[in-house]
Amino acid sequence: MVLRRSLAALAPALLVATPAHAFDWNARTATQELDVLDGRIEVESGHPLATARAFELADAAADANGAAALAFVLGDDFLDPRGDALQTVLFGGWLNEVRTSLDMGDPNKKIDPLAWAAKFMRWRYSDYLDGREKSDRWTESTRYSSSNYQHSMMVNSIDPAEVITQDDAFELVEEYLFWATSAAALNLMVAKKGQLEGSMSEEEIDLSWVAGLRYTGSIFHVIEDSSVTCNAVTQRHVPNCLDGDGHTVQAIVDGRTQVVALSDGHWYEREMEDDDRPHAGLDGLYTEATLAEVYGDFDPARVTSQVLLRLSIAVDDAVHGPLAAVPLFIDGEPNPEFDALAFSLAAEASNAIFTDVIDARYADAGQRTELPAVPGADGEDSGKFDDVDDDTASGESGGCRLGGDASPLALGLLGLFGIGRRRRRH
Ligand SMILES: [Zn+2]
Repeated sequence: MVLRRSLAALAPALLVATPAHAFDWNARTATQELDVLDGRIEVESGHPLATARAFELADAAADANGAAALAFVLGDDFLDPRGDALQTVLFGGWLNEVRTSLDMGDPNKKIDPLAWAAKFMRWRYSDYLDGREKSDRWTESTRYSSSNYQHSMMVNSIDPAEVITQDDAFELVEEYLFWATSAAALNLMVAKKGQLEGSMSEEEIDLSWVAGLRYTGSIFHVIEDSSVTCNAVTQRHVPNCLDGDGHTVQAIVDGRTQVVALSDGHWYEREMEDDDRPHAGLDGLYTEATLAEVYGDFDPARVTSQVLLRLSIAVDDAVHGPLAAVPLFIDGEPNPEFDALAFSLAAEASNAIFTDVIDARYADAGQRTELPAVPGADGEDSGKFDDVDDDTASGESGGCRLGGDASPLALGLLGLFGIGRRRRRH
């Protein structure tokens, strides 16, 4: 498998700066790129544990049809924490950290260790970045916070003229989740169709399958991060945390816990007198011993397990149903009829998963609150906007970029589709 090779390459523990938005990647992100055991990510706490739980809960929730779909899409060993499916989803989640790390440091400073760390990450993960130099929505003014939506957090601008609201950032989170779910479904449909039809090589099938599961992991990451908050229960473990620490502010809306505000980099950096960062303490609470007490009904695995199950059923149904009679290729060329149908089935699945499973986790506009100000902070950033070159190459320095952008669905979905099939032409 392609995966085995890629994960094995990660094995050496390397010293880099802390990826900003860790949810306790086995509590070692401060000093290590990733905690891996002979090429596999250890399932111990934080994201890896939450993801492994999602696989278990998906299996527990599945009827016979769902169980067959899980095994068909993920492989018979999907409950094995060291199996390819779970490990690929974990790696997909880790790539959210990697993309965020690409934006570290000040691009205008000659000597900045964080910028060098970002360079290192770019080199280290170049196979997985599709030529990216920065995270997908990076801008000069939003900088390191540009990809915060991939961690259920606020994107902030250092340009006083650029106003990014909580509503804007919620929209980014939701749009990204919808888009990534579509991309996951599409790639998995291509992989399974290619396999059933025998029209793609093992390696091509593997590439599409890995791509689908990496998107799945990215979705998991966003949802898992959304659970990290300061409340009466987490205060038992992180006594000095305040509303705003962690990734989100939560409240009961319409009888259920929802995310009502997204936290930001100022809160993330907040230190108490003893140099402790409440964010780090809150990130560390997803463990076997504490998860029931701390997360309860808001355990992200309750949601991600449903994402996984519904995604698998959608892929299974699509390739055995409407796509069964439509070949991937005609005369060796990608079949546009397949593309169009798979695209619409993937979007339909994503829409249903978003509406039925994910949406209720995030409060709707009108039920959200403002993020409290960090106590003791004197207002705005220390970063000076004068330092920033206004004439960005992308020409997007003016106005509110968040509002004016084409959706990533429009920009990128087709480009991300059928990696294996493009290669088939030659
Ligand atoms: Zn994160």
